[in-house]
Amino acid sequence: MIENWFSERYSDNLQLSFRIKDQLLSVKTDFQRIDLFETYDFGKLLTIDGTVQLTEYDEYIYHEMITMLPFFSFRIKPDSALVIGGGDGGTASSLLKLGFKKVTNVEIDSQVVDVSKEYFPEISSAFSSDRCTLIIDDGIEYVKKTKEKYDIIIVDSTDPEGPAEGLFSKSFYSSIHKALKKGGVMVTQSGSPFYQPKALKLATSGIRSVFSEVLTYCAFIPTYPSGFWSFTIGSDLPISRKEKIKRGKYFNEEILRGAFLLPEFVRKIMS
Ligand code: SAM
Repeated sequence: MIENWFSERYSDNLQLSFRIKDQLLSVKTDFQRIDLFETYDFGKLLTIDGTVQLTEYDEYIYHEMITMLPFFSFRIKPDSALVIGGGDGGTASSLLKLGFKKVTNVEIDSQVVDVSKEYFPEISSAFSSDRCTLIIDDGIEYVKKTKEKYDIIIVDSTDPEGPAEGLFSKSFYSSIHKALKKGGVMVTQSGSPFYQPKALKLATSGIRSVFSEVLTYCAFIPTYPSGFWSFTIGSDLPISRKEKIKRGKYFNEEILRGAFLLPEFVRKIMS
């Protein structure tokens, strides 16, 4: 019997492979290559330039952790949010579920949005809400020129290469700082500490150069390199948790407190 597999290479010697039922799409856009597979264990799988972006069955972990954890860790209001990247719509949809009145999503590649609308209608549901504005633009240029002020800015990017390289730069974090309301919070995905220490190092050093509080937290995401993933918050105020929280499928009170506990090798990367 012939078996078909998609593999993401983590190093020359290690890869994660998904046995696939079918390849649903492969397209080269102006920015990157997008592939879509139907897998046996994780439902639909979206990859960009050969790296896993999301799967139907575990996307909730990433999207809850990039939205709910910073939202409930600070007293920010659910008024206005900016998402940079996140063309699949999962982050914007999660923000709307938290009650945000206005979510602006700036994605560089319209084809990621189109694929997500067609194949992940629930995850991308924010794009059909009148509380969400989708802008197709480079997030770096957008934050540089925007006059709007946001309660939270979420950088839901690909890894620091190609169009996303500048999303890990000090000048980008400085523009984000200017676009936040007083007491506002930013958060970025900062990669796998084990396989992508560069992403975490760039994020923490860049955010530290602009914000007084830099906080990294981690989550278990089975389909990302090593399964152990990091996110980094920048804020000018220390953590001040909301009294009441909403639980998700992954997120709860214990995750809210425990996600900030970091292994020593992660603290070393950050220092
Ligand atoms: N959850 C994912 C992860 O960590 O692998 C990220 C998902 S989301 C699909 C990442 C998006 O960032 C992609 O759609 C990509 O096109 C977008 N992106 C990359 N560089 C960008 C930029 N400079 N401005 C706006 N969006 C960008």
